[in-house]
Amino acid sequence: MASTAFAGSATVAFKSTGIANKSGLTAVDRKLSSVQFNRTFDYSIWQSKLSFSSSGVKAGMATIEQASVEPTPKVEAPVVIVTGASRGIGKAIALAMGKAGCKVLVNYARSSKEAEEVCKEIEALGGQALTFGGDVSKEEDVASMIKTAVDAWGTVDVLVNNAGITRDGLLMRMKLSQWQEVIALNLTGVFLCTQAATKIMMKKRKGRVINIASIVGVVGNVGQANYSAAKGGVISFTKTVAREYASRGITVNAVAPGFIASDMTATLGDEIEKKILQTIPLGRYGQPEEVAGLVEFLALNPASKYMTGQVLNIDGGMVM
Ligand code: NAP
Repeated sequence: MASTAFAGSATVAFKSTGIANKSGLTAVDRKLSSVQFNRTFDYSIWQSKLSFSSSGVKAGMATIEQASVEPTPKVEAPVVIVTGASRGIGKAIALAMGKAGCKVLVNYARSSKEAEEVCKEIEALGGQALTFGGDVSKEEDVASMIKTAVDAWGTVDVLVNNAGITRDGLLMRMKLSQWQEVIALNLTGVFLCTQAATKIMMKKRKGRVINIASIVGVVGNVGQANYSAAKGGVISFTKTVAREYASRGITVNAVAPGFIASDMTATLGDEIEKKILQTIPLGRYGQPEEVAGLVEFLALNPASKYMTGQVLNIDGGMVM
């Protein structure tokens, strides 16, 4: 399907005032103004039927005059929620979505300044953004996050479940708290966000969910029993939810990155990094922007409309 060129301008004035969530984290107020859109984007997937009001065919000049006064049809930019978007892969995804013209909710847990910066970058790229501070492993924070997006922009079109942590250790020494923290965010958080966002998507029979899993969830990894169990769970969850929501027009897919350069991998140390690089056929870590490109395809591209329940590895060839 060919892309529809969309050029125009919109003035958006929005102010969300002090949304305090129960964990004490605060949604930062943002004021957006005079946002300019000027890009190529296929909005047809979000608005499959643009209705032009026409009262019958008139001849010659009359038809031309009619066309010239016809208002430009209103097209809405997709509303995207990216969890854990203050740094790393989530930040790259939020920027890619912003650059594509989306309205992006940038979620974070602690890094409010970094999240603010992400919003500023999105605005500079021509998109719209707001930050939401909240722990997505907590039901009340998730409800508040979804409400923030809906209050600001009326809906949720795309959910990217990206927030994740590691608490590595060999099983024989792994504490219950290490296990529980990772499962709570990396798996339960995905459940909570997906359940809340799909309630909105179901009403319009349209939406896309993208879960950031890991190749570790496919093949396992020494020292990551908690993390691999959570990511393996995310993969099975993706397939099940894809089946449940297919008839509602909602697609659900997972992306499974290998080793990507981010804060998460920066702490591994030179020795481990050397060993890891030997296992990657392409001989390097991936970049967050490469994962973001794949997520953007799954979230916005009409070609991915026919994909659901899939797990796409992006790992330099580690798993093949
Ligand atoms: P990262 O750089 O450590 O960033 C993690 C993000 O998650 C931050 O924005 C952080 O917010 C947010 N976060 C942490 N706890 C949260 C919570 N309770 N609620 C909401 N947000 C929270 O991680 P990354 O490397 O970009 O990884 C992103 C995703 O990709 C994760 O799901 C990870 O498992 C997955 N992944 C990464 C790699 C890799 O090699 N990097 C490989 C495979 C899969 P704050 O800044 O506020 O803490």
